[in-house]
Amino acid sequence: MLKINEIFFSIQGETSWVGHPTVFIRTSGCPLRCHYCDTTYAYYEGKKLSLDNILEKALSFPADYFCITGGEPLAQPQTLDLMKKLCDLGKNVSLETSGNFSCKDVDKRVKKIIDVKTPDSGAADSFLSENINYATAHDEFKFVICSEKDFHWAENCVNTHSLCDRHTVLYSPSFGKIKESDLAEWMLKAGTKVRLQLQLHKYIWSPDTRGV
Ligand code: SF4
Repeated sequence: MLKINEIFFSIQGETSWVGHPTVFIRTSGCPLRCHYCDTTYAYYEGKKLSLDNILEKALSFPADYFCITGGEPLAQPQTLDLMKKLCDLGKNVSLETSGNFSCKDVDKRVKKIIDVKTPDSGAADSFLSENINYATAHDEFKFVICSEKDFHWAENCVNTHSLCDRHTVLYSPSFGKIKESDLAEWMLKAGTKVRLQLQLHKYIWSPDTRGV
């Protein structure tokens, strides 16, 4: 059984799969408390469902892309089985994780989007650095940038670990906290290899709309 907050069909708003119609499976629970968290309703709300029930609902949508998100999906070990089953069915599966749990046992077919929490996130020092070793070439790292200080910290982290040599790396402005144009200018000035990511769904729908 897995505690699930919601399952819905929408447009992928983030990552290099942005724009694909995608089924989102949002698990319940997260031990972190990022200042910018836009899914606080997933901390506790949810219903325990069997893997069969989850798959039945998720596969009822006409989708090829499936995103396991949270909350923190890896806080519940059975998420690993869910992702494997979706991969076995030939689906494109991505995992959005806070970087705070080991990705060692995640099926290699899953595209992992691994957050690296910045100093101003409210969850500084939560990143498990061993996850860099568990990332394969199709996996991506994401930094949500809350300030110019965060930006410089992220640049240092990216360069220290040569993240752009093997992975797509994304900088996403903390929504409503910094201006997208400021982040763009910092990136251009620094000559970064990182990609700017805006959360597309927050521009299509109202930023606080649930289930999109
Ligand atoms: S890791 Fe994600 S779900 Fe958890 S508090 Fe941070 S933003 Fe929210």
